[in-house]
Amino acid sequence: MKVSQRAQDVPASATIAVTSRAQELKAQGVDVVGFGAGAPDFDTPEYIKDAAIASLKAGQTKYTPAAGIPQLRAVIANKLRKENGLDYKPEQVIVNIGGKHSVYEAMQAVLDPGDEVIMGTPFWVTYPETIKLAGAKAKIIQTDKSTGYKITPEQLRKAFTDKTAMLLLNSPNNPGGFTYTPDELKAIAKVLEGTNICVISDEIYEKLIYGDTQFVSFASLSKDAYNRTLTLNGFSKTFSMTGWRLGYTAGPLDVIKAMARLQDHMTSNAVTFAQYAAIAALGEPAADTIESMRVEFERRGKYMTERLNRIKGVECCESTGAFYCFPDVSGHFGRTIGGVKITGSMDFAKALLDQANVAVVPGLPFGCDNNVRLSYCCSLEQITKGLDRLQKWLGS
Ligand code: PMP
Ligand code: GLU
Repeated sequence: MKVSQRAQDVPASATIAVTSRAQELKAQGVDVVGFGAGAPDFDTPEYIKDAAIASLKAGQTKYTPAAGIPQLRAVIANKLRKENGLDYKPEQVIVNIGGKHSVYEAMQAVLDPGDEVIMGTPFWVTYPETIKLAGAKAKIIQTDKSTGYKITPEQLRKAFTDKTAMLLLNSPNNPGGFTYTPDELKAIAKVLEGTNICVISDEIYEKLIYGDTQFVSFASLSKDAYNRTLTLNGFSKTFSMTGWRLGYTAGPLDVIKAMARLQDHMTSNAVTFAQYAAIAALGEPAADTIESMRVEFERRGKYMTERLNRIKGVECCESTGAFYCFPDVSGHFGRTIGGVKITGSMDFAKALLDQANVAVVPGLPFGCDNNVRLSYCCSLEQITKGLDRLQKWLGS
């Protein structure tokens, strides 16, 4: 059958591909260490599961308003007020079917064909595709170690054209765990003043920050920032609820209403009993639950970064948030390992999996071919085992 040009132009997700390949090999009995997954390895907390079960038992199994049940929209608005200093009315919040859906729908609601979207490298693999699907063009700012893989206000200003419609921010960042300081974000907000550029601030990793890293919501920085920003978040990472498919967007009422109209026709509501569970998730036991996961991620991230930096030809910036390390491995490019010539991140990741049974995601689809992504969503024992293998493989 004919496949549309639109669909042909979209590649499979590199992160999902690596995770699936590692799972496949494990199912075949291969002892793979999987650093591919961008999903917490903890189970969803019991109190959240209990709320979903209670919701099912209470017969909450029918359609809800497409934008979400009013109680959940109100609870999210309250969370954003209390934790993020953001004053959104419940009508300014829409519940989406995962944060990925929030990104897609927000772009569909704001972008027109020909519009340009600015984002820095490294970026999450899904962003370029959602930009393309909205008919817009990604304008990519190349970053490097010297700025901690973050864009500078000068780079941003230089990237503006009369087509610039959006700036995409993701802090803490996937794939590197890089986090903008409040001052860095303030400087970016200042550069945007006087323009009509909309900002998507993807804050899905807000709770996973380490050391003395500070998180701040972009929209809370000023009235101007508030008016131009769509704040995106979700339950996948904070509450280890990746399979529940719950995300949300908050922002100017006209855009949220436009997203709701699109959602009316695309998906309708997020799963009904998951929405009731989400109300529980944001309730009383949330803080302790989040903190215990955060502490464990911090321990793993520190260990992984230190060990990576001890490997010759590998350089890893500190992972200040999320659950990823994104080392530069280009010191090994040009070598032949196990009979395979390593010319970039794609060869590197493939050869590492084939020869040493360690799954990492190549940096190329994140916009940085010198790097690979390792997620620390697995036990310290697995991390030790995987890094031992990596070290041995690179030393061979
Ligand atoms: N934004 C970023 C930066 C992500 O890394 C992810 C998933 N890993 C998402 C959004 C979406 O997550 P979900 O669809 O599970 O809510
Ligand atoms: N976003 C997560 C990751 O980057 C999960 C997979 C995906 O949806 O891309 O690994």
